[in-house]
Order: sequence, then structure tokens, then C-alpha cells
Amino acid sequence: MPPRRKYVRKDPTRSSGKPSKSKKCNIKGCDKPAVRSLSRQQNEEYLLDAGLELESSRDRRIKPCAEHYKLLKKRKKKDDKIKRLRFDARTSGGKGLRY
Ligand SMILES: [Zn+2]
Repeated sequence: MPPRRKYVRKDPTRSSGKPSKSKKCNIKGCDKPAVRSLSRQQNEEYLLDAGLELESSRDRRIKPCAEHYKLLKKRKKKDDKIKRLRFDARTSGGKGLRY
């Protein structure tokens, strides 16, 4: 019977690969884990529209938590809708407008 070699599996990426920064929502006053990273340029207007502010004005990215992301998404959707439909929405029935 050949000696059995114990195979020790090393996983350096897992043991020492700590994330450099903990991903946290960078919206002011929020401490929840971030779920996304969005371009600030493209999304700041939605952020402001929702009455939110970034923790640091130097951040280039918006990293919202699930909750804040939902808020932003909502704003964005609304905005898209307005841009796309403008006044058409009024003349085309107005109810049950969904995609
Ligand atoms: Zn948040």
C-alpha cells in the first residue's frame, strides 16, 4: 500500500485576500453594504433628486446599498419615462402605463 500523501490545499486568495476596502454605501448617513457602483456623473442628478448626498464629495462613484439603489433606479426610470414619452403619456390613455 503506497503511503498516502495528505493533500493540503492552500488557498492564498481566500486566506489573505482581504478586500482592501469594505464596500459600504457611500451615501451620507448610510452604513449599509453597497450593492452597486454607479458613475457619479450619470447618476448624481437622481441622487439629488431623491434628496440624498454622498458621504464624500470627492467620490467618483456612487455606491448605493440595496435601498438607495432602489431609490436611484426609481428616479432614473421616471426620468427615462419622461424623456421618452414627454406629453405622449397624457394622450395615450394615461392608465396602466407599464413596460
Ligand atoms: Zn444606503
